[in-house]
Amino acid sequence: MTRYDVIVVGGGPAGLAFARSLAGTGLKLALVERQPRTVLAEPGCDGREIALTHRSEASLKALGAWQAIDPAETSPLREARVLNAGSPFALAFDTGGTGEDRLGQLVPNHLIRRALFAVTHAQPGVDLLAGTAVSSARASREGAVAELADGRRLEARLLVAADSRFSAVREQLGIAAEVNRTGRAMMVCRVAHERDHEGIATEWFDYGQTIAMLPLRGRMSSAVLTLDAAGIEALAALDAEALGAEITRRFQSRLGRMTVVPQPGMAGPGVYPLATTYARHFAAERAALIGDAAVGMHPVTAHGFNLGLAGALRLGGLVADAARHGRDIGSPWLLRRYEAAHRFASRPIYAGTNAIVGLYTAEHPAAKAARHVALRAAQRLPRLRHGVSRMLMKP
Ligand SMILES: Cc1cc2nc3c(=O)[nH]c(=O)nc-3n(C[C@H](O)[C@H](O)[C@H](O)COP(=O)(O)OP(=O)(O)OC[C@H]3O[C@@H](n4cnc5c(N)ncnc54)[C@H](O)[C@@H]3O)c2cc1C
Repeated sequence: MTRYDVIVVGGGPAGLAFARSLAGTGLKLALVERQPRTVLAEPGCDGREIALTHRSEASLKALGAWQAIDPAETSPLREARVLNAGSPFALAFDTGGTGEDRLGQLVPNHLIRRALFAVTHAQPGVDLLAGTAVSSARASREGAVAELADGRRLEARLLVAADSRFSAVREQLGIAAEVNRTGRAMMVCRVAHERDHEGIATEWFDYGQTIAMLPLRGRMSSAVLTLDAAGIEALAALDAEALGAEITRRFQSRLGRMTVVPQPGMAGPGVYPLATTYARHFAAERAALIGDAAVGMHPVTAHGFNLGLAGALRLGGLVADAARHGRDIGSPWLLRRYEAAHRFASRPIYAGTNAIVGLYTAEHPAAKAARHVALRAAQRLPRLRHGVSRMLMKP
């Protein structure tokens, strides 16, 4: 049995950021991650381009991770446009009135993971237990215990689950979650195209498909297609040439002809089944959920990582403060504060995103009419648009 102050389950972005936020507190952490250390140090491309808000960028800077990301690998996002089916009308979100020159920054997910690992793995007080999973975990007023697949047993004053939206630890703690399996899937790949995107992201809710084009450096975008799971499976089976032609056709040649750009380590496009999750509680006795384990967002509003980072740092700030003042780092009071603050920050955007997805993927005539009306109405309400822009920039 090894004793720690905190056990963190999961070395994804949320778990790493939380661990990093406790640097200098003197706390002893076990960071348990199923994947081997070599994969954490050099994670492969997964096709995801994360739209980082200004706040997330500032947080990554404060953690020292932003400095480990090559600026040439980041792409500014100037504007976002939402299109509805065959309508030529586009609802635009820009930086108007904020004094910023961009809504955010697109950064490949694997580079964020690599940067967070680089600054966290050798942090004094952090024991990285990689290549082994937590097989069971429990927590009570007396403390938390985690059993590892390799037979080790850990004890701590606080257990933090950052083990993805299908968190097994969440279940073991007896915390229920809303789970919405949409039956749809997402395919992501990079495409080069003939025309300039001008730094504008496009989210096109067409009938039967949703296509996002996220502007990368040069005449290149990240194409994100959402279809029913069978449709995505069929697309992902195409060879690169046929896939490029199919994306060009589906995007109606808006950026000219598109060709798929291979990414190192990826045999084809990235495919992700779409499920959203929201935990009924973010905390239990001496335990907390962070990242996707707390809130598994629909990727359409590009906020899962941003929210997860904000939540991890919210909890990290409370724990660090308690440690510095000699208070209990897993007290019910502290965990209630975390839960309330993170629920307040996440519930509106989670519910709002699901409502948008519901409206814009429903195929019955009333929904089709309503989505058109909703976009037009939003265009006439500049305050609403600016409010949404601000929310997109700093959740
Ligand atoms: C296609 C796509 C595009 C996206 N785009 C955006 C975007 O533009 N902006 C944005 O903000 N978000 C975006 N997201 C969401 C974002 O990627 C996630 O919110 C984020 O990766 C979640 O991080 P996490 O650390 O909570 O979980 P994960 O990244 O899922 O990490 C969980 C970790 O826990 C480990 N683990 C699991 N179980 C155990 C166990 N029992 N023991 C030990 N280790 C365990 C796993 O190996 C994994 O490393 C996107 C998601 C997708 C799918």
